[in-house]
Amino acid sequence: MTTTAQPTWRDEDVRGFGMAVGGPAQVLRPTSAEQIAAAFAEVAAQGGSIALRGAGCSYGDAATSKGGRVLDLSAMNRILGFDAETGIATVEPGVTVRDLWRRAIAYGYWPKVVSGTMAVTMGGAAAMNIHGKNNFALGSFGECVESFDLLTPGGEQVHCTRESQPELFHAAISGFGMLGCFTRLQIRTKRVHSGRLRVWGIVARDLAHNLQILEDLRGTADYLVSWVDLHGKGVALGRGLMHRAEQLAPGEDPPGLRYFDPVLQDVPTTLFGVVPKGWLWPGMWGAVHLRQVALVNWLKFQAGAREQRHSPYLQTHGAFHFLLDYVPRWQWMTKPGGLIQFQPFVPFAHGERVLRQIVERCQAAGHVPYLGVLKRHRPDPFLMTHAVDGYSLAMDFAVSTNRRRRDALWRLCQELADLVLDVGGRFYYAKDAVLLQSSFARVHGEATVGRFRELKRRWDPNRLLQTDLSRRLGV
Ligand SMILES: Cc1cc2nc3c(=O)[nH]c(=O)nc-3n(C[C@H](O)[C@H](O)[C@H](O)COP(=O)(O)OP(=O)(O)OC[C@H]3O[C@@H](n4cnc5c(N)ncnc54)[C@H](O)[C@@H]3O)c2cc1C
Repeated sequence: MTTTAQPTWRDEDVRGFGMAVGGPAQVLRPTSAEQIAAAFAEVAAQGGSIALRGAGCSYGDAATSKGGRVLDLSAMNRILGFDAETGIATVEPGVTVRDLWRRAIAYGYWPKVVSGTMAVTMGGAAAMNIHGKNNFALGSFGECVESFDLLTPGGEQVHCTRESQPELFHAAISGFGMLGCFTRLQIRTKRVHSGRLRVWGIVARDLAHNLQILEDLRGTADYLVSWVDLHGKGVALGRGLMHRAEQLAPGEDPPGLRYFDPVLQDVPTTLFGVVPKGWLWPGMWGAVHLRQVALVNWLKFQAGAREQRHSPYLQTHGAFHFLLDYVPRWQWMTKPGGLIQFQPFVPFAHGERVLRQIVERCQAAGHVPYLGVLKRHRPDPFLMTHAVDGYSLAMDFAVSTNRRRRDALWRLCQELADLVLDVGGRFYYAKDAVLLQSSFARVHGEATVGRFRELKRRWDPNRLLQTDLSRRLGV
């Protein structure tokens, strides 16, 4: 008779992707729903708490628990089935975006919603209800989830669809791992007719131009995302390079069919076929620490004009979506302090004014993000949604090891959050490390927060599921 060894808890340093928050925790990597249930029962009996974790790609403290227990689901990574007729995949929660697209593309499908890195797991994507560069058109990740099994802290497996468990379905998706653990999900992917997209680079002179391009193209484009040079001042404030992409119609790109081979979709591991990309982050570290980011951004902006002249061009889905995966461990360029990302979601009517104020305040305070990414969004039906009918500007700040400067950055972001919340804006917990407890109800409204707390009491009455984020927000 063979027995499977039970995994054991191990002491590890568990941080957010940005490395600036998190700390020591005991980590267990289950390989089955039974092992998750056993871990729930064990820790509940001890009166402790558990943080669920996928690939740890949330920038802040959404999947960390300093001094606590962390259940890392990344080893539950089997694709249980892929229906080539419908494009629906049945997966374990640790299956990554990369695992999914590699399976789907071979059948002529592509995930409807993907993040800027393919390392993200399906469990983490559902818990945060992630969005892609097509949020304005196809909505959020939750909108392509057909069903899931949720293992609740009480040990109950609840099968959820929009029809059978509408409330739990819409709250567990977006519920940042507070109501139970996804153990199995069914995800609908979409048909594609080429392994490539048609892509345009469009230079945006300033913030107003950037926003105008989003409005002009959102009715026709499949994907829109703009890189923003946050060092641009005066008439150049908010300048950047928009990328627009369109899917190709059946028969439009016969040579593109060979890119259904997953190997040809993956991002290359070397630069110019020679230099290992793992060697690039030290160079980027130099740009951050020698204060050359403004210059690098200016050069990138200038290069945008050349890209615009050569547009449109054809690019694989992988190369278009996963730009950030081109440089492995790029976040190390912000060591030793790490980075935080701050992504305000601002309603359309206030977009230009509030985003301009945010950029100006960052510049005046001397905390200029080295990266800015602008997107267009639409509302979605999930309880703890971060989406608005409007814009988001994701801003990456390098964090100083100097305590006073670090605290000043946190205070600045909290002030910026007030500007956003005053106009009915929202925040996204995958990208947050700074929001105060008092902001939680302002993000969602008292009634929604009350409903979420009721669901928490019902499905997790002893508050087994906790993270540093949930404690910070007072969930
Ligand atoms: C380079 C980069 C680019 C990114 N680009 C985007 C983007 O374009 N759009 C976007 O929306 N986001 C983006 N993100 C953020 C990322 O998509 C989210 O943080 C996502 O939730 C990370 O998934 P994960 O598997 O790493 O989960 P973690 O970060 O490990 O966990 C996220 C949350 O999910 C919960 N969780 C994890 N697994 C489960 C489970 N099985 N059941 C229940 N709860 C669970 C955790 O408790 C936590 O609250 C990006 C992140 C990085 C690092």
